[in-house]
Amino acid sequence: MDSRILAIKKKLEAQRQEILTEAEHAITTDLKPERENFPDLSDQATAESDRGFLIRLRGREQMLLKKVDEAIQRIEDGTFGICEGCGEKIPIKRLEARPVTTLCIECKTKQEEDEKLRE
Ligand SMILES: [Zn+2]
Repeated sequence: MDSRILAIKKKLEAQRQEILTEAEHAITTDLKPERENFPDLSDQATAESDRGFLIRLRGREQMLLKKVDEAIQRIEDGTFGICEGCGEKIPIKRLEARPVTTLCIECKTKQEEDEKLRE
């Protein structure tokens, strides 16, 4: 395996661990019993918006975790760095900057333009 790909894989694995640790921390914090005792209404509102934030954060973490997992899987399959749009190789510099990407810059730009048109 290419040493630069190997470095990306290590980075992805570290990122995966980081997401899991953070998610665990968020859950542990959320489950603290004192958060359930609201001395007044303004505290209750704060706690509820905190909870909403945690749920959204978890949603983002889950999505990122999925992307990271898929990128690691692609490295293991040997399909990592192949653009899903055009089948061309994605430049290593782009992969190093954004390992979870599945599109080359041209296809990504095109996708973003298409999304703008749909709005
Ligand atoms: Zn492409």
